[in-house]
Order: sequence, then structure tokens, then C-alpha cells
Amino acid sequence: MRESEIEKYLVKRVNDLGGEIRKVKWIGRRHAPDRRVMLTDRCMWIELKATGEKCRPGQLREHERMRRQGERVEVIDSLAGVDEVLS
Ligand SMILES: [Mg+2]
Repeated sequence: MRESEIEKYLVKRVNDLGGEIRKVKWIGRRHAPDRRVMLTDRCMWIELKATGEKCRPGQLREHERMRRQGERVEVIDSLAGVDEVLS
């Protein structure tokens, strides 16, 4: 499944839950996750991938840097993955 289809589903699910979701881009830096999800009880960064596609090394490094600072970063490549992360 294409990344854009999974992203569309993520946006719908977050909106249905009453949350907020934003597209993300760092200024002057690469490898930002695709989205920030804000729910009353949790927040997370989401990197979306087409089904079976993996993160690039630079993305993995950025995710690790963020996790070391306590951020929650999730990589999702399926509709089931969206449901799991939001459950
Ligand atoms: Mg992506």
C-alpha cells in the first residue's frame, strides 16, 4: 500500500479521536518524521512508509536522537499499524 493512503487513514483516525495532527518539516535539517500526532493523553511523532519500505539510515539516526530525549517516535507502514499505534 502507498504511503499516501496510509497517511490519509492516519489523519482520519486522529481526527475521529478528536486529536490534532500536523505535517512536519525541520528547518535546516533533514530526516524529520512525517507527522506529529496530538491526543489529550499522548503525543507522538510518526514516520510513514509504503508497506514493506524501511527507514533510511539518516531517519533511523534522527529517530534514535529523539527517543534519547524521551520522544515517542513510531514508524508505520500499514493500516493495521495505524490502528495499533492509536489503540
Ligand atoms: Mg515517510
